[in-house]
Formats: sequence, C-alpha cells, structure tokens
Amino acid sequence: MITCTKCGTRNADNTLACARCGNKLQSSRRATAGPDTGTAPLEPFRHQGVSPDLLRSLKRMLEAWAYVLILGSVAAACIVYRIWWPLYPTVALIALLLWLRRV
Ligand SMILES: [Zn+2]
Repeated sequence: MITCTKCGTRNADNTLACARCGNKLQSSRRATAGPDTGTAPLEPFRHQGVSPDLLRSLKRMLEAWAYVLILGSVAAACIVYRIWWPLYPTVALIALLLWLRRV
C-alpha cells in the first residue's frame, strides 16, 4: 500500500498516481528502489496502517473477550436452569486456556 501524500488515500503498490486526486505516487520511492522492488518490506506500516504487534494484542483481546462471553453464557445458563455442575469444568477449561496463552 502507498498512502498518498496529498490526500491520504491508500493506493495499491503498482499504482502510478493516486486514485482520488491523481497525485504522483511512485516518483519518490522509485528514485532509490528499482521498478521491480515495489513489494520490498521496507515500510513498517504495511499492514493497512496497523503494526503487527498491535494486531497481535488486538487478537489476544478478542480471544479474552470470547472466553469471558463463554463463561458468562454458561454462568447465565446455570443460573436459569439451577444446575451448577457445568460451571466447574468450564471455569477450569477457560483458566487452563488463559494459562496456556500467557506462556
Ligand atoms: Zn491523493
């Protein structure tokens, strides 16, 4: 991805001019790199403006929320049906999963 310096629109790597404003995109990059190195991983923010570290922590957060959701729904079901045995293995399983993911 190449972000237009003029309007901020993201364009594909092989695009010569910005799709929105027509600003030239390749001239500054191509001055140092050859025409066939457009895919060289030189830019740190290639993943749609999100760094891989942030993406990883976001995935972890989503996972944690999924566990909380599962635990919450099981707990709610236990309260509704007045049975408590499914709660213990679920809590144990989620605790185990969390412990495994931390390592
Ligand atoms: Zn533009």
